[in-house]
This record gives sequence, C-alpha cells and structure tokens, in this order.
Amino acid sequence: MDLPAVPVTGSLAESFGAAFGRPPDGVWHAPGRVNLIGEHTDYNDGFVLPFALSRGVSVAAARRDDGLIEVRSRQAAAAVTAPVDGPPVVSEGWPDERSWAAYPVGVARVLREHGAGGATLLIDSDLPQGAGLSSSAALECATALALRDLHGVQAGRPALARLAQRAENEQVGMPCGLMDQSASLLCTAGHALMLDCRSGLSSQVPFDPAAAGLTLLVVDTRASHALTGGEYGRRRAECEEAAALLGVAALRDVEDLAGALGTLRDPVLRRRVQHVVTENHRVEATVGLLRAGALPEFGAMLNASHLSLRDQFEVSWPEADATVDTALLAGARGGRMVGGGFGGSVIVLTPADRAAKVRDAITAAYAERSWTPPEFLDAVPSQGAHRLS
Ligand code: ADP
Ligand code: MG
Repeated sequence: MDLPAVPVTGSLAESFGAAFGRPPDGVWHAPGRVNLIGEHTDYNDGFVLPFALSRGVSVAAARRDDGLIEVRSRQAAAAVTAPVDGPPVVSEGWPDERSWAAYPVGVARVLREHGAGGATLLIDSDLPQGAGLSSSAALECATALALRDLHGVQAGRPALARLAQRAENEQVGMPCGLMDQSASLLCTAGHALMLDCRSGLSSQVPFDPAAAGLTLLVVDTRASHALTGGEYGRRRAECEEAAALLGVAALRDVEDLAGALGTLRDPVLRRRVQHVVTENHRVEATVGLLRAGALPEFGAMLNASHLSLRDQFEVSWPEADATVDTALLAGARGGRMVGGGFGGSVIVLTPADRAAKVRDAITAAYAERSWTPPEFLDAVPSQGAHRLS
C-alpha cells in the first residue's frame, strides 16, 4: 500500500495531521542518555550513574480501539501496522526494513498485558542511532508513556521502565539491562541518576556542570563496534566465572578485593575483577563528590575509570585512548570511554572556557592520524520523558 510521505518539515503534530488526516491526541518526548561512570558494572549487579540528554525521541500519538498499532518514523522508510495482540515480534522474523518497528510494537504488546490498546504513532528523533546514546530506549520510553496516558494504564515510572526493558529483551530480542530505560524515564534536569542494578532502586544526584563552569563533551569517535558482540559476551562470561570461583552471586558482592585477587589464579580473571570492584567504588565516590559540590574533582574518577577499562577490562580502542590523552593535554579535567567498548563515544569533562581548545586539539589529533573526524555534542543533564502537548 502506498502511503503519503511523512513531511519532514513543520511540527510533529502537523506532520501527523498530514500523514493520517487527523490531529494527534498528544505528543510525548523521551531523552537519550550518557552514563557518567559505572561501565560494565550493570550485569555484575552493580551501580551506574547515567543522566538524560536534551536530545531524544518524540512521538505524536492518537488512541485507537481496533486492536492495531500503526507506526511511522521520520527516520525510517517503512510504515508498519500490526495487531497489538501478537506473539513476541522477534519470533515473527520481520524483514530488515520493518525491524525498527519491533521497538514501538514490542512496547505495545508488553503494555497490552497491563490494559493498553492500540494507537497510531508518528516518531521523530534528533539522537544519532547506534552511537551509544540509547535511541532504542528513548523510542521505547516515548511510546510507553504515550500508550500509558492514552489508555490510562496504572504504572508508575519505575514500573514503566521495567516494561520497556522487557519489550527490548522479549520483543526485540536484545538482552539489555535496566539502565537505559530507567535513565530515560527517571532522570531530572540538573541531576544524574544513581541506579542500583540489583534492586532497581535509584536516587537523584545533583549534576550541573555549567553551574560549576564546566562542560561535559560527548565525543563520537566514529570508530566501528565490529568486535563488540563477541568480546562483550566474553567479558560477561569471565565475570560470571570469576564470581562462581569466588563463591558470590555477582562481582558486586566482592568486599575483600585483595583477598579475591589472591584467590584467583587466572591473571585475566584477576584483571576483570579488579575493574568491576573498583568501578563500583568509583561510582560511589563520584556520588559523594557530586553531592559535596566537588565537580572538578570528579575528573580524576573519569581518568581512573578509563585506565581501568583500558588496562584491566581491556575494552578500549585507539581513538578513545587518543581522545582522552589529547583532551588532558589540552587542559581537560578528565575523560573516559563510554559503552561496551571497541568503538562508540568518549566523555570529556573540561572547564567551559577551554572546551573549544579541547575540541580543536582532539580534531587535530584525529587529522594527524588520518582518522574519520570526530563529532561533538555538549551534554546538558536534562529532564526525563514527559508529555510535550
Ligand atoms: P542505541 O540505542 O545505542 O542508539 P540500538 O542499536 O540499541 O542503538 O538502537 C538503535 C535502533 O533503534 C535503530 O537501529 C532503530 O531500529 C531503532 N530506532 C532508534 N531511533 C529510531 C527512530 N527515530 N526511528 C526509527 N527507529 C529508530
Ligand atoms: Mg540501545
């Protein structure tokens, strides 16, 4: 069936009207996120500290009561209409051009168990996809909030985050943790979110770099994630093996690091444990520094995290190392790779008045090495998912 093209200019509500011949019932927005510190700690039942970006995914939506969910995106060519009552999308094997719709349709199928019905959705986003800023969770959370409001589903934000995570696990088939959806739904402006990945409990931690004369840069290193799949799985398996050898449920439970390092014979497992245990301490130390208003000191935590990820967990990549080294030489307070590793982004904390110099130095370092130029984003801790209109 030929559908009218989705206009890419004008407001999302106007585009919705042009595409579907009626106004939306509302427009909802959910942000992407950056994890300040706490890398490879989530699947070890540990701590993470993400904050919401100002960029994210918006969804214009209208309720429908025919049991169908119809989704279109300004960033995807294929429109998809599917029954809300269906099996896990992953089991239906949707072809490539429809695969993006597994996220919103998957959310609708999970929320159906809680009383939600169908809707017509038009999606728009200013987040890069697959850059480690969690466009997938933003898409899920904007959809979940819209369906909750349209159908009067009784679910608070923490519950909604779990439902969105279930959609990604069960419907899309991605075994992600709870961080991305929690960040998108629970973060508040000027704060990071301390999340305990074991209990799911979280608390707000003041984080306002601009007020402290600082800038947090996100540097997309433009390096590929080609190795991530296998290496990520291997790291998870190594952590599980070490926990089993140490007789704890997860590496989060290791209290005596020196004792644990003495027990383990395999030097690789020792390095992995050293990273996870010290990284959890760095999250807690960072929370302490931020609560004390000692923002510049937090740069040292970023540097320690990067060295640990590079040397103990062995997941960094040349562009990330060069970015951090160059930023420090140019006067930044600290920096580290973020995400699973082997590609993706780096964050850099710099005095605001040196941000331009740091950016230029990084760009020059890439040019010297004939690497694809990096991209920069000023990360401002922003409000979590909300209704726009
Ligand atoms: P990340 O979450 O780091 O951006 P993922 O691979 O987890 O990367 O999620 C990216 C996927 O989410 C895309 O390949 C696409 O399927 C879907 N997606 C994200 N944003 C949009 C959008 N605006 N329109 C359509 N699909 C989107
Ligand atoms: Mg994702």
